[in-house]
Amino acid sequence: MGSYRIGKIFGIDIEIHFTFILVLLFIFLYSSLFVGGGLVSGISALIYFVILFTLVILHELAHSAVAIVSGIRVSKITLLPIGGVATMEIPEKPSLELVMAIAGPLLNFTLAFIFLIPLVMYSIVTDHSTFASGLSGALSPKAIFSIEGILLLIIAANLVLGSFNLLPIFPMDGGRIFRAILAFFMDYVDATEIAVILGQFMSVLMTILGFVLGNIFLVLIGILIFFAGDQELKVVKLRHSLKGIYLRDVTLRDLERVPSNMTLAEFFRNKFSNHIFYAIVDDQDEIHGYLDLRTIPELKDKGIMQKKIEELSLKAPILDINSEVSDVLLKLLESDFVFVSENGKIIGYTFLPYVIEFGKIRKLLRSFFKAEAG
Ligand SMILES: [Zn+2]
Repeated sequence: MGSYRIGKIFGIDIEIHFTFILVLLFIFLYSSLFVGGGLVSGISALIYFVILFTLVILHELAHSAVAIVSGIRVSKITLLPIGGVATMEIPEKPSLELVMAIAGPLLNFTLAFIFLIPLVMYSIVTDHSTFASGLSGALSPKAIFSIEGILLLIIAANLVLGSFNLLPIFPMDGGRIFRAILAFFMDYVDATEIAVILGQFMSVLMTILGFVLGNIFLVLIGILIFFAGDQELKVVKLRHSLKGIYLRDVTLRDLERVPSNMTLAEFFRNKFSNHIFYAIVDDQDEIHGYLDLRTIPELKDKGIMQKKIEELSLKAPILDINSEVSDVLLKLLESDFVFVSENGKIIGYTFLPYVIEFGKIRKLLRSFFKAEAG
């Protein structure tokens, strides 16, 4: 089970993870049944959650806006129960990363300020005392059904989101700001390593705090951040080990073509060779997908051999042969296979495990020739 697309803003897919829907359901049922106040509590909890995650989307869009303006493609924003993640090629430019990281929390603080204006005006126009009662009653289930309650809620949620994200816990915004500052003075990989170690230390504290306070979200966020930091450090190290390698160095040009209307039985009789990947072509010999033989054993269905190749077609990104591998690493990580094009025409393919092996061999050869020369 994965994510579901709920919309598209500025060309960025907005997806919600299935666990997000489960948590939404859980919160509604829990609040309706156990908090007291019945359905009112359930609905107000739902409204609270929706407001919070609308703000999370806006926060991620603020990061994305800076990325897009700087020419970085943002493919999607995914909502998880513990927050949002914008998927993009993160720039290894400390100054840009700094601005990008600050943009999210800055938007939240700006929104808090903007919503403070109608709240103050409303309180003046109506009665000052309701402002105070609104403050004290902001956490009661019914607060959300008053204008003051909802304004207060939006302001509070923005302040919490903005401040929480500024904690120096990599890969949260504060951690990214910390890494960017370090990277002004030292090697990028070392800066990431230090930011990740600090982040993991903080995330352990957060998890412990979550247990002490009985806050399951803090526990989950702590655990997730611990592993997310590690994961990103691996990607940064991988990206650095692949610097200087271009797609043209790792493009395999022996692309086999298979007609989409062929059955799998015909394919094995006539086309099967020593390849794992095949380009799937239509009547005009246009490529519109690929076949990955590793997926076939997973299809337990008895009629599998009568299936048309078309039905087994997978989509792959098309990358330009002049791209540097480190610039398209995200695409290579996301997809098991990529097509490589030259002047807009597909001329070959590659895949990450092969690229990584190539990188290792190149490193070995370099040290060998260096030793021989010296
Ligand atoms: Zn952020």
